[in-house]
Amino acid sequence: MSDVILDRRDLSFQLFEVLDTDTLFQRPRFAEHSRETIEAALDTAEKLAREKFANHNSLADKDEPTFVDGKVVMRPEVKTAFDAYINAGFLSSRASFEEGGMQLPEIAAAACKGMFTCVNPSSTGYAFLTAAAANVIRNFASDTLRSQFLEPMMAGRFTGTMALTEPHAGSSLADIRTRAVPQEDGSYRLKGNKIYISGGDNELADNIVHLVLAKIPGGPEGVKGISLFVVPKYRLDAQGNPGERNDVVLAGLIHKLGYRGTTSTALTFGDNDDCHGYLVGEAHQGLRYMFQMMNEARVGVGFGAAVLGYRGYRYALDYARDRLQGRHPDDADFSKPQVPIIEHADVKRLLLTQKAYAEAAIAMSLYGYRLVDDIETGDEAAAKDAHLLLDLLTPVLKSWPSEFGVKANDMAIQVFGGAGYTREYPVEQVWRDNRLNPIHEGTTGVQGMDLLGRKVWMANGKGLQLLARRILADVERTTDDRCQPFAQALKAMLPRVEAATTAAGKLMAEQGPRMALSNANAYLQLMGHTVAAWMWLRQANAAAALDAPEDKDFAQGKLQAAQYFFHWELPRVELDAQRLIDADDTFINMDNRWF
Ligand SMILES: Cc1cc2nc3c(=O)[nH]c(=O)nc-3n(C[C@H](O)[C@H](O)[C@H](O)COP(=O)(O)OP(=O)(O)OC[C@H]3O[C@@H](n4cnc5c(N)ncnc54)[C@H](O)[C@@H]3O)c2cc1C
Repeated sequence: MSDVILDRRDLSFQLFEVLDTDTLFQRPRFAEHSRETIEAALDTAEKLAREKFANHNSLADKDEPTFVDGKVVMRPEVKTAFDAYINAGFLSSRASFEEGGMQLPEIAAAACKGMFTCVNPSSTGYAFLTAAAANVIRNFASDTLRSQFLEPMMAGRFTGTMALTEPHAGSSLADIRTRAVPQEDGSYRLKGNKIYISGGDNELADNIVHLVLAKIPGGPEGVKGISLFVVPKYRLDAQGNPGERNDVVLAGLIHKLGYRGTTSTALTFGDNDDCHGYLVGEAHQGLRYMFQMMNEARVGVGFGAAVLGYRGYRYALDYARDRLQGRHPDDADFSKPQVPIIEHADVKRLLLTQKAYAEAAIAMSLYGYRLVDDIETGDEAAAKDAHLLLDLLTPVLKSWPSEFGVKANDMAIQVFGGAGYTREYPVEQVWRDNRLNPIHEGTTGVQGMDLLGRKVWMANGKGLQLLARRILADVERTTDDRCQPFAQALKAMLPRVEAATTAAGKLMAEQGPRMALSNANAYLQLMGHTVAAWMWLRQANAAAALDAPEDKDFAQGKLQAAQYFFHWELPRVELDAQRLIDADDTFINMDNRWF
C-alpha cells in the first residue's frame, strides 16, 4: 500500500482555520513568520518524512536492533534519518534565529514533528528524546553542564534519554532505589538499575546523555527526595569530547510488541562503583524538573497516538474504497458486480468513528501546543490562563488520544478483515506501535488519578471554571444552523460534568481519596469526551465557514464526523457522570478473592 502521511489540507485547517495560528505572527517572537513560512516548514518536514523515514518503518520493525560484540546494531536507515532530521534543523525548530534555529511557534514545530511520527514513530524517538533531554538541561542545569552538553545534543553529536523507571518502580517513582553519593569534587557516584529506557544505547552519535532520577542518601522520603543527574555514557575529556567510558552498562535489550526500531534497554549504573553523574539544578528537585519535560512529553505522546490513529484510518479508507465485497442488503441481483466495502453502512461506521477519534485527538493535541505558545509568548493574562488550562488538561491530552487512537487502529484492522490480521498490510504494525501510548509517560490509570486527585482541584478549581468558560464561548460563537444542535448538546452536558465533579469532591471530603479515586478512570473518560466534543464543535464551526467550492466535500466530512460524535459519543458522558454521581462502588468493593 502507498504510504500515508498527515493530510495537509486537514493540518492547515486545524492550524489556521480552527486555531487561528496567524494571530501568533503579531507577537514579536514570531513576527518573521507567516502562513507561508509555516507551510514551507511543513513542506520540508513532509518531504523528509516521506523520503528518509517512511522508507524503513516496516523494515526496522521486522529487523529490530540487536546487541553484537558490545554494540547495538540497527538498520543503517535509522542513522541516515536521524542525521537528515538534525541537518534539516528540525531538532532546533523552536530555537531562536541567533542560535541557528527556525524560531517556530510550538504549534507549528509540533505539526512538523507529527509528519515524522506519523510515518515512523520509532526512528523519530531518538531525536525527540534528545530534544526533550536538552530542554531540561537548558532550563535547569548549571552553566557548566549547559556548556558541556547542550550544543553537542542540539547538533545531534550526543543523543539523550530519560531514565526514570526501575524494575520495581514504574508508576510509583517515589520508590526508586538508584542512589547518588556526593563526591568531594562536586560530582556524584550513581548506583542502581533502570529498565525500559528508550534509546538507552545506540550508535547514532558519539555519546549518550542519560537524565537519571536518583536519591541522595539522607534526603527526604518519597518523591521529595528525588534528584536529577546528567550521566553520560562517555565522560568528557578536558576539551569536552567523549573520553573515558562511564560505568553505565547495557544489561540487555528488551523485545517489544511495537516501537521496535527504538532500542528499549535495561541499564546498570555503577556496577563497578565508578558511575559519574552531575547534579541538575538543586538536590531533591529532580521530579519537578523531570515533570516539566514529562508534561511536554505527555502532550507529545498524545499527539503521537493521534497521528497514528489518523494513519490507520487513512489506510483503512484507501482499502475500503478498493476492496469489493457483497452487495447492498436490498439488492439480490448477483449478476451485478460487488460493491466496494465502503458502500456498507457498517464499514462507514468504522471509518467515521476512526475519523472522529483521530481528528478530535489531533485537534486537542494542537490546542495543547497552542497553550504552550500562549504561556511562552502571550501577554500576562493570556499566559496565566494558558498555564492553568494546560495543567488541567495535560492528563486528558495524554490519555484520550492514546486510548482512542488505539481504538481507531483496532477499527482499521477490522475494516481490512482477514487482511488486517496479516503482516502483509501495515495496520497491524500501526496498532502495535500505538499500543505503547496508553502505557508510557504515566499509564491511563495514573493520568486519571492525576486529573481527579490533583488537577481538578488546583487553584480552587479555577482551571475547570476556565475550561467551562472557553467551551461556553465557543457555544455562544456558534451561528450556523448545522452546528447549533452540537453547541446545544455540549452546553447541556456541562452541568452533568459539574455535578460529577461536585460529587467526586464530596466523596473525597467525606470518604477520602481511596474511595473518591476509585472511579478516576470514569472521570478521565468523561472529561476526555467533553473536550473531544468541544474540539468537534470548533471544527464544525470552522468547516461551516468554508465557502470555496474545492472545500465542499472536506467541510461536509467534518460536519458529518461532528454529527457522529454528538449523536453517538457525547451521550457516553452522561453514563460516566451518573456513575460518579452515584458514587458507584462496583470496582472498589470487588474483593481479591472473588476473581
Ligand atoms: C516501550 C517502552 C518505552 C519506555 N520508555 C521509557 C523511558 O524512556 N524512560 C523511562 O523511565 N521509562 C520508560 N518506560 C517505562 C514506562 O514509563 C512504564 O512502563 C510505565 O510508567 C508503567 O510502569 P510499569 O511498567 O512499572 O507498570 P506498573 O507501574 O507496574 O503498572 C501496572 C498497572 O498497574 C496500574 N497501576 C500502578 N500503580 C497504580 C496505582 N497507584 N493506582 C492505580 N493503578 C495503578 C497501572 O496503571 C498499570 O495498569 C517505557 C516503557 C515501555 C513499555
